[in-house]
Amino acid sequence: MKFDADTAHRAMGPIDQAYLGYAAEEAVRTGAASGGVVTALLLHLLDEGEIDGALVVKIRCENGRIDGRAVLATTREEILAARTSKYFDVPVVREGIRLIRAFPGRVAAVTLPCHATALRNLAISGPEIAARLRYVITLFCNHSCDRYLLDKVLQKNSVDQSQVVEFFFRRGRWRGQMQGKLRNGRKFCFPFSRFSYYHNFHLFSLTRCLRCHDHMGYASDFSAGDAWLEEMKHEPIKHSIIFSRHSAGTAVLQRMAAAGRLVANEIDRTTVFRSQKRAINYHYNVTARSRAAAKYGMHIHDSVGAPVRWNDDLAARLILLNHHWSHDPSRRDWISKIPQPLVMAYFLFLKLLQNF
Ligand SMILES: Cc1cc2nc3c(=O)[nH]c(=O)nc-3n(C[C@H](O)[C@H](O)[C@H](O)COP(=O)(O)OP(=O)(O)OC[C@H]3O[C@@H](n4cnc5c(N)ncnc54)[C@H](O)[C@@H]3O)c2cc1C
Ligand code: SF4
Repeated sequence: MKFDADTAHRAMGPIDQAYLGYAAEEAVRTGAASGGVVTALLLHLLDEGEIDGALVVKIRCENGRIDGRAVLATTREEILAARTSKYFDVPVVREGIRLIRAFPGRVAAVTLPCHATALRNLAISGPEIAARLRYVITLFCNHSCDRYLLDKVLQKNSVDQSQVVEFFFRRGRWRGQMQGKLRNGRKFCFPFSRFSYYHNFHLFSLTRCLRCHDHMGYASDFSAGDAWLEEMKHEPIKHSIIFSRHSAGTAVLQRMAAAGRLVANEIDRTTVFRSQKRAINYHYNVTARSRAAAKYGMHIHDSVGAPVRWNDDLAARLILLNHHWSHDPSRRDWISKIPQPLVMAYFLFLKLLQNF
């Protein structure tokens, strides 16, 4: 999709001020998904007394299974324990609403864009939620996956999930590593790309993501994501992008920087867009997916009316095909048996289609 300023604005929503940076504290960055800015922001809000708790997602390894649970963290240790991204579906809204209702204080909720919209809608109809929901922080999100992908990737990398006692989807520099620990004390670690190649071309992606074009959380106060910028590739410290949607949010980020918690430079909207160009090119163009959907007996409402060029059309068709195959019980198993070099070649082709 050819982007002009107007389309970029519609795709990203209003941005008051954006920053490129990282959490100043190394202890916060270690173990974060990217530059640790989301965790640093939560700790700052807690220390400043702006919130009493944070709705975050924690990994639980119980009953032989890795799961994600929403928790209300009220201490630094609990917020730190919930760092890094969980790339599967977590019932953040269902569990979050129950937790917020039972909590007597003010809350900052970390969510994906779809969760943010749902929480805001629930806050409109529930005054007790509105009174407690102080801030909504969204993660940039291209799509999320069925847990089947994690199960298969662990299996393919000879990790017995029933023995896992600690697990991190992604830690470390640039694309990062998938890491964990087994009951016998042995640690495992392999490139996150062994998961992300499948994830990135939407194999096993959630069906609701095909209909979504909200990449940065229109309903958020703050939004954060990875700085996929060529010039950041060799930076020794991994950087994130974080922006505020209103001046009160910008004041929070400025106080955070002044307090020495955030190391960041102001960036413009073009840099924010550039950092997510491929993802937004695909994600915003629901029109292309709407047209391709009929071939798979699906209906996707075209909520954006975007122009569709040949590369948008081909990318949408391939992604719908990937989604269709990977949700078919008779075919999904053999997808994980495709040799890695072939997966990588397919991934690079799709990346090329989404690049312009
Ligand atoms: C499904 C998914 C898709 C994403 N897609 C993109 C993308 O296309 N482009 C991009 O730039 N970034 C994407 N991200 C965001 C990225 O992975 C980082 O989370 C982001 O850069 C913030 O990094 P950080 O170091 O500041 O976060 P951290 O300091 O590590 O904090 C992350 C916070 O997010 C919370 N969290 C983790 N997973 C979830 C979840 N599933 N639902 C709700 N809260 C959660 C954690 O509890 C923690 O509080 C995605 C994240 C997820 C979970
Ligand atoms: S792509 Fe949209 S629907 Fe899917 S997880 Fe992300 S925000 Fe939610």
